[in-house]
Amino acid sequence: MLRRVRVYLSGPMGAGKSTVAAAVAEQLGTRSLDLDDCVVRLAGRSIPEIFAERGEQAFRALEKEALKTVPADVGVISLGGGTVVDEQTRQQLLREGIVVTLTADAAVLAARVGDGQGRPLLGGDPRRDIEDILQRRAAAYAEAHAVIDTGALDTEEIAAEVLALRNRSPIVVPLGVRTYQVEVGRAVRHRVGTLANDHADGDAILVFDGDAERPWPRDAIHDLTLAGKSPIEVKLSGDESHKNIASVERVWDAALEAEVDRRAIVIGVGGGVIGDLAGFAASTLLRGVALGQLPTTLLAMVDSSVGGKTGFNRARGKNLVGTFYQPKFVLCDVQTLSTLPSEERVAGLAEVVKSAWLDSEESVAMLEGDAGALLAGDDEATIRAVRMSIQLKSRIVHEDERESGRRMLLNLGHTVGHGLEAAGDYRAIRHGEGVALGMIAAMRVATRLGRGRPQETQRLIRLLERLGLPTDLDRRLNRRVLDFIGSDKKRRGDRIHFVIPRLPGETEVALLGLDEVRGALDV
Ligand code: NAD
Repeated sequence: MLRRVRVYLSGPMGAGKSTVAAAVAEQLGTRSLDLDDCVVRLAGRSIPEIFAERGEQAFRALEKEALKTVPADVGVISLGGGTVVDEQTRQQLLREGIVVTLTADAAVLAARVGDGQGRPLLGGDPRRDIEDILQRRAAAYAEAHAVIDTGALDTEEIAAEVLALRNRSPIVVPLGVRTYQVEVGRAVRHRVGTLANDHADGDAILVFDGDAERPWPRDAIHDLTLAGKSPIEVKLSGDESHKNIASVERVWDAALEAEVDRRAIVIGVGGGVIGDLAGFAASTLLRGVALGQLPTTLLAMVDSSVGGKTGFNRARGKNLVGTFYQPKFVLCDVQTLSTLPSEERVAGLAEVVKSAWLDSEESVAMLEGDAGALLAGDDEATIRAVRMSIQLKSRIVHEDERESGRRMLLNLGHTVGHGLEAAGDYRAIRHGEGVALGMIAAMRVATRLGRGRPQETQRLIRLLERLGLPTDLDRRLNRRVLDFIGSDKKRRGDRIHFVIPRLPGETEVALLGLDEVRGALDV
């Protein structure tokens, strides 16, 4: 698959895009081309002529058109300096290939472009114009698989970085200058030292749980120490009952006793409980320090480590205090799942099924094909499932970071799921099991409202069964569960935001009356 991943080099004029593109293409045994050349060919005019006669808007439209005409055997494309300013183009390239921003200080870039001859966006003072461009395009340039400062590197070094990046193929969560990457694979946990140094000059605070059977925190300590960042260790109890302010205080206090400053980074190694606690502590410590996530449960990989929700529980309910705070990096190492009890893996698979249904027919079909392998813990199938889930989540978080609209889709199955969890005092049923049953319930509601199809419900049930998840909704639904549905956080008066799955990839959020939902569930 990787062989076909195309590399797009973006960035300001003078960053070295064309030269690096040629070097990367040579190493890959493919060919490169300049998008500018394609535009010139398409328009039958030079770039200054297009700008002078038709303006920048028309030029951007031609770029879009030109991108569609690139032959399949081109493996590396040097984009125009402003190609990625177009939101739609940028998101499309991020999904389809590897986007690398090459950049440098304005002074370095200005020296490279000289008097700016033939560059329509430069006037009499190229350096000032370049500074201006860098500022205006900062958010667009940050939304990339990597940003490489080419100021102090030669072409070979930059090409080597691009190739290594292409091999890792991280998933981008595009959030302007707060963009970050999620790496998924085997042994990617060992990247923690490099990434901690890339993102923080100060101390590392490692938050983890677990026992001697689980080598993942030990590995992180080792890797960070090798990278010159021997961490401050905070070992917490990682179960739900310890997801409280006392655990957060332990992180704060350990960091403050070690006299860390705002250049510090908090890194969470563990499941969703550890991740949420580490995230909250990072977002509040000294008014916010960097955060890295190394999730070690399937649920934490596909859901909690990405998207920036942090928090802890209070007596009145789960996750009632928290922040939105994005990490700097996330490392999903499927090898860490080798110690995970199978019931925890299965619970995580419910969120994977949810992601697939939100995503597309192809994703559901992929899970159907991979079901046996996923249940058995096969690394390749797990990597595919984790990547699909994170790609879906990153798209939704990009569109609606703070859950005011589309992000509510991620609650598919959660309304009834929470009701089932709460009715069992959070002991009788796991979160993932609740989500599985909640998805069946959501399909039932969809069908009763005339928006879903009964055969989809059967399809979902078959998949959940194959993945070892419960499907006996009717046996578990009762009045008490329905009462808890009404106490959901998403409630608005006597109405509730309910996620209605119609078909894979066709899901909507509707404001439904509580009675309507309860009636459709027909208890
Ligand atoms: P968890 O963190 O409680 O972990 C489950 C158990 O597995 C714990 O006992 C933990 O110690 C153990 N464990 C973790 N990694 C292990 C490994 N590799 N090997 C063996 N044991 C391991 O549960 P979870 O399912 O990962 O996360 C649930 C939490 O995530 C909940 O608190 C939920 O509120 C939160 N969550 C947050 C978000 C978000 O967006 N922030 C999304 C979904 C869920």
